[in-house]
Formats: sequence, structure tokens, C-alpha cells
Amino acid sequence: MSSKSKGINTVCTHVGELVDKQYKGAVSPLYMSTSYAFDDVDVKRYPRYFNTPNQEGLCKKIAALEHAEAALIFGSGMAAVSTALMAFLHAGDHVVLQQTLYGGTYNLVTEEFAKFGIEYSFTEGWEPKDFETQIKDNTKVIYMETPSNPLLTITDLVGVASIAKKHGIITMIDNTFASPVNQNPIEFGVDVVIHSATKYMGGHSDICAGAVASSQKNMDKIFHLAKNFGGSLSDYTVWLLERSIKTMGLRVRAQNENAMAMAYYLNNHDDIAAVYYPGLPTHKDHELAKKQMKGFGGMLSFELKPNIDASLFQKSLRLIKSSMSLAGVESTVLSPTQTSHALMSAEIRSKQGIKDGLIRFSVGIEEVEDLIEDIEYAIIKVKEYISIPSEN
Ligand SMILES: *Cc1c(COP(=O)(O)O)cnc(C)c1O
Repeated sequence: MSSKSKGINTVCTHVGELVDKQYKGAVSPLYMSTSYAFDDVDVKRYPRYFNTPNQEGLCKKIAALEHAEAALIFGSGMAAVSTALMAFLHAGDHVVLQQTLYGGTYNLVTEEFAKFGIEYSFTEGWEPKDFETQIKDNTKVIYMETPSNPLLTITDLVGVASIAKKHGIITMIDNTFASPVNQNPIEFGVDVVIHSATKYMGGHSDICAGAVASSQKNMDKIFHLAKNFGGSLSDYTVWLLERSIKTMGLRVRAQNENAMAMAYYLNNHDDIAAVYYPGLPTHKDHELAKKQMKGFGGMLSFELKPNIDASLFQKSLRLIKSSMSLAGVESTVLSPTQTSHALMSAEIRSKQGIKDGLIRFSVGIEEVEDLIEDIEYAIIKVKEYISIPSEN
């Protein structure tokens, strides 16, 4: 089925599906073969060449979701990030990266790039000018992440993409937090879109995968490196991911709605000092988010007042689990200072606005009333704990 002018849920459900001509089954047949007989057409199918029937089908779906000419699926989000970056960076080149990056991407850059002779700079802020001031003669790539983790800052896609075009630089974005349901960066001039499919595409916390979407020309370049790096995804997981994406539009829209409701609830709560959610009119980048996002996403962060201990609060939740991962149908929370940003110095954290009471909240599809009840209960528990004098 062609993706032209089809709505998101139709694309999620149908684009790229394999037809079961033999039995007329409802879902794509799964081809587990790692070996395919040659025929007259010169297609050498092999999983690490990213061209088994199931891989090709899912790549079409992901390309359609991101309004891209082509896409590739990888064994993890980091396989997608590393392959995309390294495809455009050679020894002596320079890359500009947004200051707040996913931890794994930050580690890739700071731990590995020097040994390949690749230079890098991080921006000071999120404005297009913050990217422009870091550009050097040898800058080949600008790398963004919006909404960012954990404070949900928004980067101006059109602003950064047009600066990059002026300098002949490729732009890349990690679009994981938004998902293709809420943000399609290619529409705003960004060149390469990357996803950790472990998150909203998978959506059930049971798949590890990654994806890259771009023009055919860029994807040819990325493919060339990808087959050498070897980060392809097993066909069984490809098939599971295709199934998961069928409900991505439904899931993510439900998560958008729940996150908006939770943001308003938390924003009016006496024990919460601040809420970071691009859907709130009080968010500093709300207007920009409205321009470039179709929905504001299922991720938000909030800051507990100093009298509510963050780890005690998390332990007192009964329905919402503490977890490193995000974007599943189940709600999860984590404390960035204790987990994702624990290795950062307190000074850098405070410079970035990440306080000890900050809680990152990945809002699931549960009923909002139940999520609210869970948070109310946890806050009461923490207060009780504080007010009970120790018995011994
Ligand atoms: C999880 C994540 C990644 C890395 O994905 P993996 O599938 O864990 O390799 C990259 N970027 C963002 C924003 C993520 O949340």
C-alpha cells in the first residue's frame, strides 16, 4: 500500500505489510531465512544487508511514518545513532551537538570520537544561535534532540536546519521522545531522523531496536557503513516491531492526552514546585512546540518541593514503577540525579536546571484517575514518614 495522503493510523497499520499470497493470512508472514537462493534479479538477500522481506517491509513503514524516502532498522537505538553519525563524519571533521543529549549518545561522543579523530562541541543553550556559534570550517553534522531529556526543552527545527543549510552542514535529530506521531522533522528541513524504537515504536517495553530515516541518497551512505558495522535487527524482532507499530498512533495519542492531564494536575499541586511539559501554556517553548509538534508527547518532568524526598516518593508509588526506560504503555518515573545524570557533577546539573527533587515521568495509557490516586497516596506516605518521630 502506498503511503501517499494516508492518515497516521492507516500508515501504522498497513504500509509495508507483506501479503500472504499462499494462505491469505491477516498479518505479514515471518521469513526467518538467513540464506536466499540467487535468482536472475541481482538481489542478494541477507539479514546484515538489511534486505530480508520483513526488514524491507518495516523500513517502508518507518520511512512513511517520517515522510522520508527511505529508512533502515537497527538492533538498538544506539546502533542507529552511531551508524548515522559515523556515516557522515571522517577523521578531521567536526560535529556540533546539543548540550542535553541522551546519556548513551553523550558517552558515544565523549568516549569514542577522539580515537577516530573526530572533533566535537556541545552547545551552551538551545537557540539556533547557540548552534551557529559552535560551527567551524570543518563542521559536517549538527545533532539535535527535541523535546530534550529531562527538562523537555524544545529546539527550533526550522531555525537550526536553515543555519545548517547555509553552511552546507547535515542536520540530524534524535526524534525518540516525540515519536513520529507527534513530530516529523523532515517537514521542517532536518536531514536525518533517528529513533530508539525501543521506546514509542515498540511501546511495550519488550523490544530493543533503532531506526534511521532520510533521503535515499543519505540512506545509501548510511547503509554502506551499516552493513560493515553489522548492527541489523533479527527478523523475529522486526516482525514484533511491525506489530507494535500498528497501535503506535493509538498509544501515543492516549499518552499525549494523559500527559496533558497529569501536567495540569501536577501544576496545581501544592507539593510540586515546577512542571516541565511543552503542552502547558506556561512552558517557555510552548509556542514553538505548537508550531512543530502535532501532539506534546507522553514525557514530562516535575520538581517535588524540598520537603518531599524524591527517593521516598518513588518508593511509595504503588502503580507507577521506577524504571530507567520510558515510553511503554505502563507509566514509569525516574530521578535523573540518581540515575541518568548521576555521573554528572552537581555543578553541571544545576547549570542545566536539574535539581534533586526532579522526577521524569513517562506517562502510560492507564486511567488518569488511577495515576493521580497513586501520586496522592505517595505524597501522603512521604509526609507521614517525615512526621512520625522515630520509635527507637
Ligand atoms: C533510549 C534512547 C536511545 C538509545 O536507544 P537504545 O535502544 O537503548 O539503544 C537514544 N535516544 C533516546 C532519546 C533514548 O531515549
